Order: sequence, then C-alpha cells, then structure tokens
Amino acid sequence: MKKSKLLTATGAFCALAPMQQSCTPESQRTESPNIIFIFMDDMGYADTSCYGETRWTTTNIDYLAENGVQFTDCYSAASVSTPSRAGLLTGRYPVRMGIQGVFFPESYTGMPLEEVTIAEILKEEGYATSCIGKWHLGHRDRFLPMNQGFDEYFGIPYSNDMNGQVYMRGYEVEEYRIDQRQTIQKYTAEAVDFIKRNSDGPFFLYLAHNMVHVPIFVSEEFEGKSGAGLFGDAVLEADWSVGQIMQTLREEGIEENTLVVFASDNGPWLQEGPMGGSAGILREGKSTNYEGGVRVPCIAYWKGTIAPQKNSDVVSMLDWMPTVATLTGAELPDVRLDGYDISPILLGTGKRASEDYAYFRNGTPNVTEYRSGDWKIALPAGRTNGNFWRASTPAHDYLLFNLSEDPSEKYNLWNKYPDKAAEMLAKLEKYKAEFGEVPPALVMWGNTDTNYLNRQRQQAIEEAEAAGITSRQGEMQEFIDVE
Ligand code: MG
Repeated sequence: MKKSKLLTATGAFCALAPMQQSCTPESQRTESPNIIFIFMDDMGYADTSCYGETRWTTTNIDYLAENGVQFTDCYSAASVSTPSRAGLLTGRYPVRMGIQGVFFPESYTGMPLEEVTIAEILKEEGYATSCIGKWHLGHRDRFLPMNQGFDEYFGIPYSNDMNGQVYMRGYEVEEYRIDQRQTIQKYTAEAVDFIKRNSDGPFFLYLAHNMVHVPIFVSEEFEGKSGAGLFGDAVLEADWSVGQIMQTLREEGIEENTLVVFASDNGPWLQEGPMGGSAGILREGKSTNYEGGVRVPCIAYWKGTIAPQKNSDVVSMLDWMPTVATLTGAELPDVRLDGYDISPILLGTGKRASEDYAYFRNGTPNVTEYRSGDWKIALPAGRTNGNFWRASTPAHDYLLFNLSEDPSEKYNLWNKYPDKAAEMLAKLEKYKAEFGEVPPALVMWGNTDTNYLNRQRQQAIEEAEAAGITSRQGEMQEFIDVE
C-alpha cells in the first residue's frame, strides 16, 4: 500500500526562513518523503569544489551543498567499501555482522540476511525501492539487493576493478562484456527512469556509483572535460548525473518532497596517484583510520524543509538508518543500532545525541580510534608494510590529536596533555566494554590459500607498474611528538 503524499504550501515559505531556524513544523511535513542516496565510490573528502577542489567545479553537487546541510565532519562506517555500505544500510557497525573487510567475486558469503536495511523498513511503509549500481554486500543469489528490501536492482554487483565485470538486473546477468565508459550514463538513465515511474511516491532510491573507484572511465562527452585528467573528468560526469537526478525531481514536481543525500563510501585511494582523488588537508586515505580514510563528503538537501547550513558536528553514515526512520515514521528493527538520529540537525531543531565516533581498523573486530568532540585517540599499532593497496605505516604508541587545531593529525599531544589522554583512553575503553560480543569474521575470500592471494597481489603490482602507476609505499610521515 502506497501512502499519499502531503505536499504543503509551507515548503516554499520555509526556503525563505533564516538559517538555523526550525523549518516546516513536524505536523505539516510531508508524511512520506522520497529518499535518494547518491553514494560515490572512493571519492575523497576534497574531490568536489564545495569541499575544496579548485581544478574543476562540481556545479550540481555544490548547489546541494549551498542549499542544504553540508557536513564537514561526517564519518563513514569503515575505510573500505563493503563494511562502509553495510553500515550505511543497517545503521550498525559491520563487525556486528562479521564484516571486517571487502567481498570479492570469489566470496561465497554476503551481508547476513537477518540484517534489516533502510530499504526493508521503508518497504514496510509502502515505499518503492531501487538499488542501482555497486552493491558489494554479496553477489550470490541469496545476498543480492532484492533479498534485502529492494524491489529492483541494476548494476555491477561488486567493485569495478574485480574480475568478471557484469551488469546484473534483478537476479540475472544482463550483460557480460560491459563498457565501463558508459557506466555513469547507464546508472543515471536507470535512476531517472525509476524516479519517473514512481513519481507518485513514495520511493527510496539507492544510487551507488562504481566511479570514481579505479579503473576510471568516462563517456566520450566527458573526456578531457576537467582539463585535469581522467579522474577530474569522472567527478564531473558524476556531477552531471546529480544534475540529471535533480532536474528529473523538478520536472516531476517532487523536489520539495524528496530528501537527497550525497556522500562517499570511504576516502581516496591515494596509492593510485592521479587516479586516486584527494582528501585535501586530511591525513592519508582509503583503508586507514586517519581522517582522510573515513571522513567523507556528505550533503543533505531537501528543498523547503532543510535550511542551508554548514555543519561541523560529528555525524556518521550510520546515522541515516535512525534518521530516515524518524523522517518517514518507519519502524526501526529491534536490534542494537550504532547510529544516532540527526533529523534535529536537518530540521534545525537540535543536535545529535552524541559528539563521539568510534573507528574500527580494516580487518579487525575492535574499536581502535575514538573521537569525542575535537579530540581523537588512536591505540598503539605495529608497522605495516605497504603494497599496491596501501601505504606502509610507521609503528606508533598511543596518539592524541586535537582535530580542530590539527586536522592533518601531525602533532601527537599524548605527552603534552596527560589528563586529556587519560580521559580519552577511558572513553574508548568504556565504549569497547559496552560494545558487546562480535561474531567471528566472515570468510571474505572463497579461496583462502594465502599464496593464491599473494600471487594475485603480485600480479596486480606488476600490472600497475607496467601501466606506469607508482605505489606510495613507505611515504607516510612519522608523527611529531609534542612534549
Ligand atoms: Mg570504496
């Protein structure tokens, strides 16, 4: 049963309301707003002009930022793809479901079916639901989007650099030999079609682009468009896609009845050099828990309901599950959630209930870094050797950063502020103690022969070197200890 939508005259009035003022009152807000998530792959914090890129201009994304809430301190649930997506769709840390890394085409596993997704709670409310693009939560039949609350699925079921690139529709492979230069165009056409078919609403569209994850492709129309290389061209094509979505909402007369969220799954893949994007002044990128790895661009736009605001509160992609539930009246599952409702920020009525965020290192089941307000603590870590996938990282003892004064995480204040250090360590330990048991990690590789993995990686390194891609192994800076 679809619910009727309640477009109100207050929407247009509210756009003129002063910043920070509460917008449309609860009783007059649309009962069942459409929800669109536009989720980029590996787009860095600073790859759009509204977040600092100066070589190209992302006009459409900037429009959403200027006319919606632009978050400066939004954290992805993880520093890599699969767990980040599991966290977004469920509001739960992926370690709670055994997801500690990424799935591969060889994986036999997927996100457990008992996990409840945003699509599932909205379907209960009569929403039409569509997943377009990268799924990456298991590509075997039983783990596909249509078993997790989506009516429809079209896209590449995992990352675009993995073996066996195909387009799937529903449970079937629709195309075996795909031309990735057309991927953004194809996804955009599918998204526009879904919106048009469901403009009487309500609907939930999860548009998860495979770009700008390597290998980067653009359609002919966008080749050379940025004047700054293929990566910039792909960002501009993604920006064009955002513009197409917005234009469709306007044409269908549903812009004021639709929440649009634009974000990325994790930080830039810096080892890819010019194909890897940028985290700006933030330290490091994808697969690390430095800010560049997990702090992502995140914009929420809802004409007439969300007043323009740049917001620097600590928020997370885990927050969308409870937030969407509040905005739509959908019922949350009876499980432990890790996100907080941020609808008070969106509606200008209050704050998130916490200014804290817990980080889980890729491949581990425990909290390893913790942020509270401006402060961040990191537990000691051994050295890791770099490879094609990530930079080598120096061993370190406890680290303490003040992110408002040192967003680049250069200066370790552990010795300088022993009281703050003790306070932050106590917060992390308390969080860890209260987190609860986590299940064993799922086996992400179908083939657990480590020699096989090493051969795959070695082959990838050789291919990268042959293609002229230089690795950033060993480039990561040591920390400056402040006494
Ligand atoms: Mg990614």
